[in-house]
Amino acid sequence: MPGEFDFIQWVRAQQKPSTLALLPAGDDLAILRWPANDLLLVGVDQMLDGVHFDSNLHTPRAIGRKAMNRNLSDCAAMGCLPAAAVTTVASHRGSGLLFLQELYTGMREAADLQGCQIVGGDTGSWEGKWVVTVTILGRCEGVTPITRRGAQPGDGIFVTGPLGGSILGRHMTFEPCVAEGRRIAMAGATSMIDLSDGLSRDLPHLCEQSGVGAILDVSAIPIHADAIRLAARDSVSPLDHALHDGEDYELLYTCRRGVSKLPGVLIGTITENTGVFLSQAARVERLVPKGWEHSL
Ligand SMILES: [Mg+2]
Repeated sequence: MPGEFDFIQWVRAQQKPSTLALLPAGDDLAILRWPANDLLLVGVDQMLDGVHFDSNLHTPRAIGRKAMNRNLSDCAAMGCLPAAAVTTVASHRGSGLLFLQELYTGMREAADLQGCQIVGGDTGSWEGKWVVTVTILGRCEGVTPITRRGAQPGDGIFVTGPLGGSILGRHMTFEPCVAEGRRIAMAGATSMIDLSDGLSRDLPHLCEQSGVGAILDVSAIPIHADAIRLAARDSVSPLDHALHDGEDYELLYTCRRGVSKLPGVLIGTITENTGVFLSQAARVERLVPKGWEHSL
């Protein structure tokens, strides 16, 4: 029966030479040659079987892709370039070598598309469910990282794509907006975040960090066809799906008015008064967050 070392050997055979990693895999730590004068941005994100994916429903390759893409999306949100990743997988004992290989292949495919290299990792098996963790290392390469702290009263609020209903499948198959994030950062965005928890949670996060408020124009919020399809099945409106569903992985950002050729659509304005509001047909009401939050 194949064991952990068969998998590690297989992973090593997959690795390509690179200018970033000084050594082939096989030592206790990877050694990276980091470009002089560039910043290193670091993030980590974990995915739990039964919460972020379902190992009975989703293919291991799709699970691997999503695990990597969530981290690549965080790079997009700061306008930085993903350079390297370190991954861990806790596999459910008895799932087999092929499942692990497919999961790793999914992670590597997603990373390859963005020029990011998996430079290290760890694996183990246990009686528990699958847990996949990716640590991402990003670099700026000449672009100042965009944070959640810079939104100014009067800035426009933009979103790069339609929202809602990602649970119908897009939460597994989305493409991280890395190139858009770079363009937005270079255009002079004042703040940015990727929409993982839903607009009604992520916009307040951004506003709190910037010490500002926001007013959204309901008629301008782009609603995904999935939100409409989902609304036909449940009692929730397409707009509520667009506002509250998580895992869209579009970018939400702010920029001063008058900057042209920005990706996405204008959906609102940053205000000096705190609080996030919805404006619809001359009526203004407070936006109550209903997006995803892990209970403890
Ligand atoms: Mg994020």
